[in-house]
Amino acid sequence: MVEASKEVYGSLHRRFKGDLLRPGEIGYEEARVIWNGMVARTPALIARCADVSDVQSAVRAASEAGILTAIRCGGHSLAGFSTCDRGMVIDLSRMRQVTVDPDTRRATIAGGCLLGSIDAATQKAGLVYPSGVVSHTGAAGLILGGGTGWLTRRFGLSCDNVEAFTLVTADTSVVRASSKENPDLFWALRGGGGNFGVVTEFGVRLHPLTAVVLAEGLTPEGKIRGLLECWRDFMADAPFDLKWNINLRLAPHTKRVPVELRGRPVASNSLIWTGEPEAGYRYLQPALSLCVPDSVSSGINSFTDLQTMADSDFPHGRRYYTKSGYFTSLDDSAIDRFLEAVTTIPSSETQIELAYLGGAAGRIPAHETAFGDRSAPFILNLLANWSDPSGDADNISWIRAIFNKLRPAMKPGGYINFMSGDEQDRVPEIYHDRWDRMVVVKSHYDPNNFFRLNQNVPPRKPAARSL
Ligand SMILES: Cc1cc2nc3c(=O)[nH]c(=O)nc-3n(C[C@H](O)[C@H](O)[C@H](O)COP(=O)(O)OP(=O)(O)OC[C@H]3O[C@@H](n4cnc5c(N)ncnc54)[C@H](O)[C@@H]3O)c2cc1C
Repeated sequence: MVEASKEVYGSLHRRFKGDLLRPGEIGYEEARVIWNGMVARTPALIARCADVSDVQSAVRAASEAGILTAIRCGGHSLAGFSTCDRGMVIDLSRMRQVTVDPDTRRATIAGGCLLGSIDAATQKAGLVYPSGVVSHTGAAGLILGGGTGWLTRRFGLSCDNVEAFTLVTADTSVVRASSKENPDLFWALRGGGGNFGVVTEFGVRLHPLTAVVLAEGLTPEGKIRGLLECWRDFMADAPFDLKWNINLRLAPHTKRVPVELRGRPVASNSLIWTGEPEAGYRYLQPALSLCVPDSVSSGINSFTDLQTMADSDFPHGRRYYTKSGYFTSLDDSAIDRFLEAVTTIPSSETQIELAYLGGAAGRIPAHETAFGDRSAPFILNLLANWSDPSGDADNISWIRAIFNKLRPAMKPGGYINFMSGDEQDRVPEIYHDRWDRMVVVKSHYDPNNFFRLNQNVPPRKPAARSL
């Protein structure tokens, strides 16, 4: 691998317009780090591309040398797929242009953008692109895996709002994928992750929105069962304008939390209403009536405030481990398991996140995109978050134990963007009956599995040649 990285550097350094960083060089240590502190790797070369031709050169050089290659946008892969030991990282962090056309309500987003840069550019025109809930997350990884957030019920998944992708494929061609150009690839890129090439540009649809109603409140341990039953039944008929997320966790020791709740198991409710504010308040009431009154806040928030309010809860460099699953329905025994789980949480920042999909995302037919599953409305994300490496074993085993207990009640499947790095065997399950089509598209665009640091779809083995 050392020889291979020298070969790649040798072939790139004269014509590469961006930065080539090797261990020991200025800037390498910062460039090496990704968001999840559990994944500390040492690539032999980081190729920070300045433009599409740099991406083509990097893919060509890496492919010729046969070096393991990771692609990085925001570096937020929970599984740690955007780095590797001894191989090369194609880093897109210099490619962060966002161009908005207010008249057509369209934008082009470069392949290295973070969500915050998209929000800043689109809000100048009073428009939004539906994405995730933490502004320092990379857009490319999030969109390619699907992309859920506060606006999913109103406007669909992030990938549902992409009209065209431009990507550099394994043979270094620049290819466009849309409903008219390479439609199979267009289908696969909407939920199929980074399997098919380096996406250098997303052409997306935008929607008018600048503010939302945000209501928050904490439900004490004794009322969590009632809350979950209410949420389960209420969301089935809730308007698309309502998003209601519940996080089961230990209440933080902060000023905003009533003293009697601090450090205790609670359900933290976040409700977003995207319609006319007056019309929304009655939909917020069922949740807020199950919260401790002193913990409740509600009001109109700017969209950019909404998009950054969780940023500091998920800082770079902490240790994270996740698993995700879907439920068609939440029966009483699943609720029992959630209640048991919240009383055994090993870290104060760890959360059991519950979201209800449905809405505009659930209305799109399953076969229209590669995205995992739109039919099971309940999404569970188990997200362990801690800082001391000595807590690794406890936190990881806690997640695995909860997941295994809940597994029988889950629908097969999951969301690739919340999977950990040790779940490659679950990838076919994620795509259900769409798996074979994924394999066909992968085999066409990446027959040698050059793009394999992802929730991988292995290409078909080439047929043996007859003599
Ligand atoms: C703090 C935090 C908050 C999150 N919130 C949400 C949320 O609200 N909603 C949600 O849906 N998900 C969320 N996620 C999950 C997130 O969608 C995934 O972690 C996603 O992979 C992050 O994208 P990235 O570009 O930062 O990742 P990276 O680590 O850069 O890449 C992730 C994967 O995508 C591939 N990839 C990256 N860029 C490209 C590209 N340009 N072309 C092709 N492949 C590429 C990589 O090879 C890798 O396999 C969150 C994650 C974190 C850490």
